[in-house]
Amino acid sequence: MIPTGNSGKGPWAASGIALEAAGPALFAGWAKSGEAYDCAEFGCDCGWGWDYEPGEPKGMPWPTPLIQLTAYSDEQTANTYRPLQSMIRNGRLGELLKIRENFIRLPNEGKVETVTSSAMSRLGNPISYAVQDETQLYNDRNKLHYVAQTQRRGLAGMGGRALETTNCWNPAENSTAQKTFESPSRDIFRFYRKPPAHLSYKNKADRRQIHRYVYQGSWWVDLDAIEAEAAELMESDPAQAERFYGNRIVQGSGAWLPDGLWDSAEAGSRELVPA
Ligand SMILES: [Zn+2]
Repeated sequence: MIPTGNSGKGPWAASGIALEAAGPALFAGWAKSGEAYDCAEFGCDCGWGWDYEPGEPKGMPWPTPLIQLTAYSDEQTANTYRPLQSMIRNGRLGELLKIRENFIRLPNEGKVETVTSSAMSRLGNPISYAVQDETQLYNDRNKLHYVAQTQRRGLAGMGGRALETTNCWNPAENSTAQKTFESPSRDIFRFYRKPPAHLSYKNKADRRQIHRYVYQGSWWVDLDAIEAEAAELMESDPAQAERFYGNRIVQGSGAWLPDGLWDSAEAGSRELVPA
């Protein structure tokens, strides 16, 4: 999972789907000396190949890739679905991946389909891969936490995996993103660039440093534009601005404790004196 706003997670998640759809995404044992991966063996004529080092993990395409792209709404699935369609149209993937009206047909009766809060009929199927986008918006009220959990069960049946992408969540909302981040499970890889604590998001110079830290490596992001958007949102909803652009997990209004109070409280000893 990658909490960041504007860092291009849609196209990045799309490339993950393309890999799971046609590439060597499935573990295929450990390589012996002289073994190689050859795309042509799997019906692709791109010419790509890879000579394995002995002991390196080998990969193979899924025999039948069944992939679901999940988002809050249809408009939101487009953030990933559209770049995926461009990758298929503008490269060689089109020989293996066929764009149909409501889904993408994959080799051996596989497919990529979308799931949203208003289109849950596809739930419950076994799947090999799921992208769960914007999981800071998934909760019990809108049933999307149930969707995410059901997909995990479908993945477990096939030995598949899921990718969550999220912006920083409001800790008062108990979202899927928060639950995944706080889960004690050891098989979750989490990626989160947490800005240095001494910088204040309210201070313009500090904010600049926070943005520079958060968007490091995202060379296409214009920090002046981010600052303009952030400063405007600061006026009406500073917590949301700090979550979305500053990549910090801060709560909105209506929380039961002021931010930071719990963490700063000292667990010292206290003697109770009878009255
Ligand atoms: Zn190939």
